[in-house]
Amino acid sequence: MMVEEDIKKGYVEELIECPFCSGFVPDEFECILCGEEILETEVPGKTKLVCSRCGSKVKKDSESCPECGAVF
Ligand SMILES: [Zn+2]
Ligand SMILES: [Zn+2]
Repeated sequence: MMVEEDIKKGYVEELIECPFCSGFVPDEFECILCGEEILETEVPGKTKLVCSRCGSKVKKDSESCPECGAVF
């Protein structure tokens, strides 16, 4: 018996802005883009929420992604 999974599951991922390269990266201690060490005090507080599946910007209280339809 085949199980069909029609519902795409994802989650809302919070990215922080790297103070060195201004790229948005996952909440890590080291920027995956420029390799600089990110200290909590250096983060300007800019974050954005993206879909974990397609990377589209989503709203905080979104239940699904408007781009790929993933359910959070
Ligand atoms: Zn960086
Ligand atoms: Zn998506």
